[in-house]
Order: sequence, then structure tokens, then C-alpha cells
Amino acid sequence: MTGAKPAIVIHGGAGTITRADMTGEKEAEIRAKLQESVQAGYRALMAGESSSRAVIAAINVMEDSPLFNAGNGSVFNAAGNHEMDASIMEGAGLNAGAVASVSQIKNPIDLASRVMTDSEHVMLMGDGAEEFARQQGFKMMDPASFYTDFRWQQLQRIRAREQAKADQKDQWYSTVGAVALDMQGNLAAGTSTGGTCNKRWGRVGDSPIIGAGTYASNSSCAVSATGHGEVFIRHVAAYNICQRVELGTPLSEAADTVVNDILVKANGEGGVIAIDRYGNIATPFNSEGMYRASIDTGGAMDISIYREDGEAEGALVGNVDH
Ligand code: ASP
Repeated sequence: MTGAKPAIVIHGGAGTITRADMTGEKEAEIRAKLQESVQAGYRALMAGESSSRAVIAAINVMEDSPLFNAGNGSVFNAAGNHEMDASIMEGAGLNAGAVASVSQIKNPIDLASRVMTDSEHVMLMGDGAEEFARQQGFKMMDPASFYTDFRWQQLQRIRAREQAKADQKDQWYSTVGAVALDMQGNLAAGTSTGGTCNKRWGRVGDSPIIGAGTYASNSSCAVSATGHGEVFIRHVAAYNICQRVELGTPLSEAADTVVNDILVKANGEGGVIAIDRYGNIATPFNSEGMYRASIDTGGAMDISIYREDGEAEGALVGNVDH
């Protein structure tokens, strides 16, 4: 299938700043970064690179930006530390790599990719993952270098709320991800995150779990998720969508069923980005918004945060603290 028209979709999380709290300036900043990310991935595809290289290029841009909860900008856990997770999967041979609970890696998606290409394993975690990184020549970061004042203040707000036992619904889903179709007709998906703010240390969400937060198979589609990780794990969200597509359900219907029916019934707030081997794209979410951008097989770029006119209303619209 060499000569296929490439396409890419990215997300910067389903826990967007609410419309009410969004300023023109902030929105412009987020849109510019989404555009930089999607264009970085698309450039790689147009240069003939693989879908997994494109996914990494797109995710690196968001990991390096403090605007998103991945790499630089990752949330703090309850112990005041960073524990980052990432995974990547190639649709062409079901190769996959993942890392969980790393705190010294600037771009966790790069390490996930290295686990895929240079180890016999699919997932490495914590100290073992970082020892592997050292052996692979990765630059080790001081964990304190991931500090951002914005995320620290967010942790303090959540702690205060929990102490006051306020019954409030707050989500911090600004994980990043990308899915792509390359000129060879191969699909890939990747996801990178700091997890959820104030999570218990040792907690691992869906993002590094193949099948839950990330999945790609050339016989169906590529999916990257963002949202309430525990629910996405229970419903094997990414694989769930791919399996439906493999059995003949159109991509948009499969993604919509999982996000707006199965996950909604389970109270699982969030969304996914998905692309199939024909370049069809789906970006359903059941939250107020989802930072997202795409460049389709015709070269048309779209950058969106909230629901477009005509898009179905999500059933789980909460008080979201970015
Ligand atoms: N899904 C991520 C997790 O549960 C959070 C997110 O999407 O921001 O770790």
C-alpha cells in the first residue's frame, strides 16, 4: 500500500479549561501548540517516515510544552512527585513499548519507543525503566526539573478540596496522544501523561497500558485515549474500539459507542482520537471539550477544543480544572 495518503490526529487531553474560564489569549496559545504538534507529525509523514516516528514527533512537541500534562508540565502525585507513563504501538506487527512511573525522563514517549525497539519486553516501570534508559544513553533529568508552578498550585487546590471533603467533580485530563497513517499504509498510536493530579504514588492509569489507553492494528485502527484511566482500563477502551472495527463496524460508530455509551454508563469521563487504515478519523469525547487537531488524507487541518456545531452533546460535562 505504498503511496497511501498520510493523515494524523493528536489530542492534548479531554480535561480542557471550561469555556467559561478560557481566555482568548490562553486559547490562542493552546491552539498554536496543537498546530505545531500536528504539523510536526504531518511533516514526518510527508517526508516518508513511519507512522510511529510521526506519532513521536507530534507527542514530543506537547511533552516539551508546559501547557499539557506530559513531560514538562506533568501533574504532581499525592506525594508531591512526578510519575510519568507513556506507550506506543505499531499497527504493522503489533509491536509495542511502554513505560510507567518514570520521573527522570524528559520525553517518556521516546523511552516507550526504545522499549519497543531495543528490548524484548513491552513494558518497563520505575527504577528498572530508568536503568534501561541510562543504558540506552538517555539523558537523565533531575526530577525537580519537572516542577511547574501551575501544576504545584493545582495540587494545593485539590488537597484543600479533599480536606474540606467537598463533593466536587474535578478532572485533570490533559494527557497527550497521537495516531497516524503513513504512506506505507501503516498505523501507529502513542500516548504520554503525568497521570492524574494527586494520584496515589504507584498508581498507573490507562495511558501506558496497551489496549486501554493505546492500541494500533493495521487490520482495524489506531487509538489514543484520555480521561478517567481506571474506567478506560476496565473497559479496555482502545482495543474495544479496534475490535469493533475489525468486526466490521465503521470507525466513527465504534469510537462513539465506546466513548458515549459504554464509558458514559460507567461514569468514565474522557475521549479518544482514532484513525483507520483508510484515513477515516474519529474524535469523540464525553467531556466539555478535548484539545485536538488533525490533518486528513486531503491535507485539511482542523484544530478544535470544544464541541463543533452539530456534534452530539457529551453526557458527562463536569467542573473541569485544567
Ligand atoms: N488517562 C490518564 C490517566 O488516567 C489521565 C488523562 O487522560 O489525563 O492517567
